[in-house]
Amino acid sequence: MARGLDILGDPWTLLVLREVFFGNGRFDAMKSRLEVADSVLTKRLSGLVKSGLLTKRAYDDGGRTRSEYVLTEKGEDALPVLNAVTLWSEKHLPAPSEQAHMYVIHRGCGQRTSSADTCTRCGERLTAANTSWHSQTRTTSPVKLATAAAGTGAAA
Ligand SMILES: [Zn+2]
Repeated sequence: MARGLDILGDPWTLLVLREVFFGNGRFDAMKSRLEVADSVLTKRLSGLVKSGLLTKRAYDDGGRTRSEYVLTEKGEDALPVLNAVTLWSEKHLPAPSEQAHMYVIHRGCGQRTSSADTCTRCGERLTAANTSWHSQTRTTSPVKLATAAAGTGAAA
């Protein structure tokens, strides 16, 4: 557990991963959403790339090539950790507003789950591909999660 916490035990790191799962992997957008200093965000992103949870991918920004951050398979495997923190918070901590709730939804059956890795309604295992998060501070309907970029898994 201590080895995992070296990477996943930092609040900003989990929030950065949350943003990338929400499909929000561009530096300026993450910075704006998290209201975080450049230096803090840069440090977490480089740590996540170095640890192999994120990778950079080029995208075209109106004729300029820029980089965005996407999940690797190793990063995608952290989904149950983020789900667990979300579900525990919803169960035990008051939300600052009705809008501030965040729900984990299994897309297969469309129901909220109260388990981090398995749908409590239908029993299917949760993956980024079949899971949505719903935070009304962000969107009115649930957001399909980002999955690992192609070719980022361990070599076969
Ligand atoms: Zn289900």
